[in-house]
Amino acid sequence: MRIMSKTVEAFAGSAYFRLKEVAEGVYAAICVPGSGSLGNAAIVDLGDATLVVDTTLSLQAARDLRQAAEQLTGRPVAYVFNTHFHGDHVNGNQMFAPEAQFIATGKIREVLAGSVADRLAQHRSKTDELIGMIDQWEKDIEQEEDEKIRQEMRWEVMAEREYVRTLPEFRLTLPGLTFDEEMWVHGSKRSARLMTFGGGHSDSDAFLYLPAEKLVVIGDLVLSGFHPTMSHANPWEWLKILDRIEAELEIDAIIPGHGEPCSIDTLREVREYLRFAIGLASGLDPNDENLDGVTIPEKYDDWLFRFDFKNNLKRIRELSKQREESVQG
Ligand SMILES: [Zn+2]
Repeated sequence: MRIMSKTVEAFAGSAYFRLKEVAEGVYAAICVPGSGSLGNAAIVDLGDATLVVDTTLSLQAARDLRQAAEQLTGRPVAYVFNTHFHGDHVNGNQMFAPEAQFIATGKIREVLAGSVADRLAQHRSKTDELIGMIDQWEKDIEQEEDEKIRQEMRWEVMAEREYVRTLPEFRLTLPGLTFDEEMWVHGSKRSARLMTFGGGHSDSDAFLYLPAEKLVVIGDLVLSGFHPTMSHANPWEWLKILDRIEAELEIDAIIPGHGEPCSIDTLREVREYLRFAIGLASGLDPNDENLDGVTIPEKYDDWLFRFDFKNNLKRIRELSKQREESVQG
């Protein structure tokens, strides 16, 4: 279910996102699909300080986000909070340096400084190889029979090309402030509770909760109208985290990692999807490479990230196998 939110006129606009005021002084920056960027962000006016949640995939989108935050709150951004390590939530960080303080969980910092930094170094030293892979991928897309999947894959290719184009100016910007369970950021008008219940969508998933507004900026733990992506996920842990969020927090509105602002109903929809995918994956033939016989159920048919549906099932099948082996071993 979508919730009511105002579109914001004060900012001239960005080709990469649309701004929506979800509560007074709390703005969602909802990514425009196919714009070359990816990932939602949020701007929170704390009263005497401005906090931004996530910084999108594209440097240009992040530049626009910074400008929007400055125009809407009338001051520079003091804090940037990253919900998880994925590029579409952290890559724009550098656009807020050096003024902003960067905050995330200790685990997110560890992953960024480790495997993400290693992969970046590889991309820099073998950029030609990376471009070759993207070229090949672009050709492969045309073999895909599903027109909607083809369209979405073209968008992904655009985003990849934008990433490659900005590699020379890209600087990995690590959080300087970290927490393990929660921390508060207090402003003169409101306080934000930064929290984590562990990792489910990724190694470590954090979120921002505004108790007075009953609003959560939740990263990719909840996607609205998108297939939840599981490439680094543990769906069983993910379910536990969603249960805990619903049990422990009062929630009227959610700014999701992808898609439109939504209500607690969307968190429940994601939980149902995870359970459904786990059930479906358990009945799959272990030797069926491409899952040709599997089709997307009607209720998920208009969700974006369609290509993730089969990838998700394959990921769960693989993880289930590992779980069985570890129990037997
Ligand atoms: Zn993600």
